[in-house]
Amino acid sequence: MSLKNIRITGFKVTDIRFPTSLDGIGSDAMHQGTNGSHPFLELYTNDDKVIGEGIAFSNGRGSELVCAALEIFAERVVGKSLHSLTENMGNTWRYMVSDSQYRWIGPEKGVTHLAVAGVINAIWDLWGKVTDRPVWKIVADMTPEELVRCIDFRYITDVITPEEAIEMLKKTQVGKEKRIQEAFDNVAVPAYTTSPGWLAFSGDRMKEVLRETIAQGFTVFKFKVGSDLKSDKERLQAVRDIIGYDEKYQIMIDANQIWSVPEAIEWMKELVQFKPIFIEEPTSPDDVLGHATIRKALKPYGVGVATGEMAANRVIFKQLLQADAIDVCQIDAVRLGGVNECLAVMLMALKFNVPCVPHNGAMGLTELTSHLSNIDYICVSGKKSMLEAAESYRENLRHPSVIKNAHYVTPLAPGYSTGYVPGAIEKYVYPNGTFWTSEIGEKIKRAPKGGEGLLSDD
Ligand SMILES: [Mg+2]
Repeated sequence: MSLKNIRITGFKVTDIRFPTSLDGIGSDAMHQGTNGSHPFLELYTNDDKVIGEGIAFSNGRGSELVCAALEIFAERVVGKSLHSLTENMGNTWRYMVSDSQYRWIGPEKGVTHLAVAGVINAIWDLWGKVTDRPVWKIVADMTPEELVRCIDFRYITDVITPEEAIEMLKKTQVGKEKRIQEAFDNVAVPAYTTSPGWLAFSGDRMKEVLRETIAQGFTVFKFKVGSDLKSDKERLQAVRDIIGYDEKYQIMIDANQIWSVPEAIEWMKELVQFKPIFIEEPTSPDDVLGHATIRKALKPYGVGVATGEMAANRVIFKQLLQADAIDVCQIDAVRLGGVNECLAVMLMALKFNVPCVPHNGAMGLTELTSHLSNIDYICVSGKKSMLEAAESYRENLRHPSVIKNAHYVTPLAPGYSTGYVPGAIEKYVYPNGTFWTSEIGEKIKRAPKGGEGLLSDD
């Protein structure tokens, strides 16, 4: 099996949704009734044992649009050899975002870009399977020049050029072998957890899960805030009652875009007493200068600003960095256009000395980001960061991420850790899987869509 012999012959898109709304996992100030969903792509090849698997990510009904877009964008790689797709991946990436008619409804953002991510990640998965390596190791095996060739530098050369990126990566080569060994020893990627922090959790449930995660060795925790100031204060007080203000434990908080800029500053002034390291997504993901204003206002209190999980592309990240708007750069493995665009953002973050802490918060993502965090540590920044962990429905995944001693266990299976155990698709395929046709599944289908109560009924 070689890259030249493998050719993509067809594909299948499946709408898989997990009913995470049942237990409030994924709930935040902006998203209630969240059902973590995987528009799932299988790229078939001329070898029927070799299938490239990729996911886009969505919330419930959002999958309908993303699946339609995957059908369109996956078609672009049918007939291509894996060699032609991987020999210059920056070009492949440019090709994927160059459909001039669909580009109109992006460009490089929204539904079309989510689909591009699904296809690009499936190609990486295929590359890993054919060369018998996990995706992080494919990148770790690259020279700086080869890594840089994976990136489309259009729109970012005012901040970083390919030549400069190569020079930066050459510096990171120092100590690379040692860091690869740390990856094999499962100590390369420290984990933090959001498990106690979902907004829908009652005080007792929150405390119970917090104690459980402390017992598992976690020392950094994230909590959702932003729907009610009084209850935010009560929850964070309860958290501090348990963990104290000892340096040993740290907390972060996440508002999921609920506030306008002045509101974010005022609300946060009430919460700084609980000493969060940062506030995540305080306002609209597109508001680069708004984030900068919030960051400046919160700096005297020692609270940073994090964002990125809904930053559409490398251009938004470029501006967030240029505007000194963020302390933490939260790339998303399936919001950005797959591994390649994540590499571009990692390099820019390194240039601005801002740590990359990939966004997770849901099953299927932690599996991908554990590759990305290893890549950042081993090849790009050379600095240890941390990675969010959150449990749910993981038993359905073929390569579920594993945490040991509050560190990610490095994925070793060939590919990009995507795919499901037998039976999972039959159960969770939407709308006709056995779960979704059960009584409870039908009830979730009838749940409020959001915005109810905003308009009168007459
Ligand atoms: Mg978040």
